[in-house]
This record gives sequence, C-alpha cells and structure tokens, in this order.
Amino acid sequence: MVAQALIQNITMTKAKEVFYGSIDQQFETIFHLIDVPNMSLFQVIQKLKENNIYQCHPAMLSAIIQAKLDAHFSVYKCPECGKKTRFKRKAQKTVSTTFGNISFQSPQFYCSKCKVTSVRFKFNQKSR
Ligand SMILES: [Zn+2]
Repeated sequence: MVAQALIQNITMTKAKEVFYGSIDQQFETIFHLIDVPNMSLFQVIQKLKENNIYQCHPAMLSAIIQAKLDAHFSVYKCPECGKKTRFKRKAQKTVSTTFGNISFQSPQFYCSKCKVTSVRFKFNQKSR
C-alpha cells in the first residue's frame, strides 16, 4: 500500500513537471510578445493569434498585463510636459476576450500643470 502510494506520488510529480514545464514555456513566450501599455488589449489578442496562440489561461494574461502596467507606471511622467504625475486612482477592469475574462487594475494619473488626467490601458485604443 505504501509502495503504491509512493508510485502514485512519483507519477503525479512527473505529470506536474510536464504540465508546469509547458505552462512555464507558454508564459515566457506570451510575456515577450505582450508590450503594454504600448499595445491595446485588442492588439495583444491579435499578436497572440498571429503567433498561433489561440488559448491560454486568462489568469496568465491578467498577471502579465498587470505586472507590465505596474512596471511601466511606477516611473510614469506626463506625456504632455514630462512632469512627474500624481497617481489618481486605479480602475478595476474586466474585459471579455476570446481568451476568457481578463482582469487588471488600470492606473490613472493627474498632471497638475496640464490639468489632464491621463493613461488608462484600453481595449481597442492605443493608450498613452
Ligand atoms: Zn503635464
């Protein structure tokens, strides 16, 4: 009984290795294809399809998009005057795509000099 449980455990570990290995590879491929916020979400979906990726876990896309948005906006300056902007708020977004529902928090910034609120990562418009 113990031996059987051990064999089952080894089998599961092997299956996990194969699965996580393929997920890991897909994650890295997708990570390098996605360029947000320079690409809209629509362009992201198009890019994946152009690279023959028609499905993946929507949580994977959400995590990659969120991480890239956070990295980009951690050093965000006003696109009009180059002044450092003030963080205004984050808007929770969920968008239905052919890859499933993709969720992320899209930050908005306010420039006190230009009096402009800017930047939201959009679905089909290029954000700035
Ligand atoms: Zn400005």
